[in-house]
Amino acid sequence: MGYNVAVDGPAGAGKSTIAKLVAKEMGYIYVDTGAMYRGLAIHFLKKGVDPEEKEAVVEACRDAEVTIGYEDGAQQIYLNGENVTGMLRTEEVGNMASRTSAIPEVREKLLELQRSLASEKDVIMDGRDIGTNILPDADVKIYLTASVETRAKRRYNELKEKGESCDLEEIARDIKARDERDMTRDVAPLKKAEDAVLVDSSDMTIEEVVGRICSLCRRA
Ligand code: C5P
Repeated sequence: MGYNVAVDGPAGAGKSTIAKLVAKEMGYIYVDTGAMYRGLAIHFLKKGVDPEEKEAVVEACRDAEVTIGYEDGAQQIYLNGENVTGMLRTEEVGNMASRTSAIPEVREKLLELQRSLASEKDVIMDGRDIGTNILPDADVKIYLTASVETRAKRRYNELKEKGESCDLEEIARDIKARDERDMTRDVAPLKKAEDAVLVDSSDMTIEEVVGRICSLCRRA
């Protein structure tokens, strides 16, 4: 059994940035489960599936195989053998992932992959239901959050840096809608596990958050 650190929290809380740095510092493998949902979302987009049509989504799941690999320590997502890592981080893919992740069959499809990675390796795994559902016996559980304003501003700066045009209010609206969907869905909703440590990064630097989490973890 690997040493398991679970990090959950809303969109834009900085989970992946922080988890990657903690992984490096502590010698764990970083597992980004959102990327797996995004990988499946690409499949649904390619097939032109309407995320509101549950049956069609479930049907489309049948011919999708999501697997994971590592290149120079960076997680890669393969969809039916094709490396789709470079296509994962668009708003379109994120929205499709958020909508379809509420469907139990979609979650079921990725559950085994997530659990088997954690059972074999020392991992820090981030997502929405890792501490509550995927790894209820994780050694350390973190609930990482930040205010909507902070999260929207971070996303805005990120897009600006990439030279993409964006609107702060629209980003904030999008984040709120995504929170609402993730927190109120029937299956595996986003919530803090009772035994998770709450870390609110609104007024913390990246180094402070990483330091706080590392202080709770055992080195691999
Ligand atoms: O974290 P990220 O934004 O990449 O995740 C994309 C979407 O996948 C989220 O909005 C969420 O709905 C879904 N997700 C999930 N459970 C996870 C990870 C992600 O439902 N463990």
